[in-house]
Amino acid sequence: MSAKDSNRVIIIGAGPVGLCLSLALAQAGVKVTLIEALNDDNFLDQVPRAGTNHPATLEMLERVGLYKLLEPRGIIAPKVHYWDRHDGTLIAEFDHAHLKDDTPFPYVLQCERIKIVEEAVKLAKAHPDIDLRLSTTFTGFAQDADGVTATVNNPVGEAETIRGRYIVSGEGARSIIRKELGIDFEGFTYSDRTLNIEVAYDFRQHGYTERNYISDPDEWSNLFHWLGPPDRWRVHFPTKENESDEAVQRPEVLQAKLQAFLPTGKEFVICGSNVYTVHQRVATKFRSGRAILAGDSAHVNSPIGAMGMNSGIHDAFNLADKLIGIFRGEMSDDVLDRYARQRRHVAIQHSQADTIRNKRLLAERDPAVRQKNHEHLRRTAEDLKLARAFLLRSSLIDGIREADSIP
Ligand SMILES: Cc1cc2nc3c(=O)[nH]c(=O)nc-3n(C[C@H](O)[C@H](O)[C@H](O)COP(=O)(O)OP(=O)(O)OC[C@H]3O[C@@H](n4cnc5c(N)ncnc54)[C@H](O)[C@@H]3O)c2cc1C
Repeated sequence: MSAKDSNRVIIIGAGPVGLCLSLALAQAGVKVTLIEALNDDNFLDQVPRAGTNHPATLEMLERVGLYKLLEPRGIIAPKVHYWDRHDGTLIAEFDHAHLKDDTPFPYVLQCERIKIVEEAVKLAKAHPDIDLRLSTTFTGFAQDADGVTATVNNPVGEAETIRGRYIVSGEGARSIIRKELGIDFEGFTYSDRTLNIEVAYDFRQHGYTERNYISDPDEWSNLFHWLGPPDRWRVHFPTKENESDEAVQRPEVLQAKLQAFLPTGKEFVICGSNVYTVHQRVATKFRSGRAILAGDSAHVNSPIGAMGMNSGIHDAFNLADKLIGIFRGEMSDDVLDRYARQRRHVAIQHSQADTIRNKRLLAERDPAVRQKNHEHLRRTAEDLKLARAFLLRSSLIDGIREADSIP
C-alpha cells in the first residue's frame, strides 16, 4: 500500500458506531477502511438490541443522511411513561415536546439497531472513500511514529495487513484493541440478567405509550413498541440469579410471565426471546497513541434509559470532527485527548450514573423510598421547567452540552 493510500482511518466493526464514524469521515473527504467480521448473509441475524434513538442522536443521523432513511422504518415516540406495576398506576408522563426549542427532533425514534446498520451499510457501500471489508476478522495491530498496521483474516482465511494513520475500535464490548492496549474495563456486572420477550400485542389499549419504564419491587419491567415487521413490543424482566437461559425461555414460562404482567387470559403471540448479561463498565483510557476506543468498546451500560448505542453514536461524531480537523491539518492530534476527556466524562457522569440510577429506581424494594421516588417523578413531570430539565438529561442533550465545555 502506498503512503497516499495509507493516509486513512482504519475502523474495526461495522456496528452503529463504526458505520456512523465511517460515514461522517468519508463525507468530509477522509478515507476509511472499515473491517467487519460478519457478511451480507449473516449481518442482519444479530439478536435484538438497541433501538431507541434520542433527539441528539437523530440530529447526528440526519447529518450523514441516515435520518430520512430511518424515520419511515421506525416509530416517532414523543412520550415516555413511568408506571408502578405494584398498584397498576401511571406515575408520570414526560413529553419530549418540552424540548421543541432545544432540538429540531422533540421526540425519540424507535428504530432498531439492525435497521440503522442495514441502511448505513448501504450508504457505506456506495461511498467511494469507504473501503468496506465484510467477512474480514480483525486479529491485532501495531503502531509506530507514522501510523498503524492492522492484521486481519480476509474472506478466504488468509492473514493480511492494512496500513493507516489511526485505528478506531468500534468492535463492541469485547474489543481486541482495548485488550491489546492493556486498558482496564472498570466497573461491575449485575448478578441478575435481563430477559427480553418480543410480543405481537398492542399494549396501548391498556394505556401504555410507545416507551414505558415500570417499577416493581419484585419484577421491574420495560415495555417498548417497534414497528417491525412484525409490529411488536419488547418486554424486559429481570431473571433470578441461578435460572438458566433455557429454563427462563420455555414457552410456558414466557406465557406465565406475560400473564402475570398483563392478565389477558389469552395466549400472547411471542415472536422471540433472548437473555443477556448487563455490565456497567468504562475503559480507563479512550486513547493510546494512534488507537482510539468508541462506543461499546469504551463503555457499556444497562439498556434502562437507552444510552448505550446513543452515547456510542455521540462518541463517533465527536471523534469524527476531530479526525477531520487533523486530516485537514487544522488541528494537532492532541485534540484526540480532548475527545477522550469529553466522552469519558459523559460515560461516567451521565450514561453510567443515569442507567445505574434508573435501574435502582425501577427495582427499589423499600416502600418508603419507592413512594418518595414516585412522588419526585410525579412532581417533576407536572412542572414544565423541571420536566424540560429531566428530558434534557434523559435524552443526552445535557451530556453533549457539558462535554462541549470541557477543554
Ligand atoms: C438487549 C440490548 C438492548 C439494548 N438496548 C439499547 C437501547 O434501547 N438503546 C441504546 O442506546 N443502547 C441499547 N443497547 C446497547 C447497544 O446495542 C450498544 O451500545 C450498541 O450496539 C453499540 O454499538 P457499537 O457499534 O459500539 O458495537 P456493536 O453494535 O457491538 O458492533 C460491533 C461490530 O463489530 C464487529 N466486530 C467485533 N469484533 C470484530 C473483529 N474482531 N473483527 C471484525 N469485526 C468485529 C461486530 O460483528 C459488530 O458488527 C442494548 C444492548 C442490548 C444487549
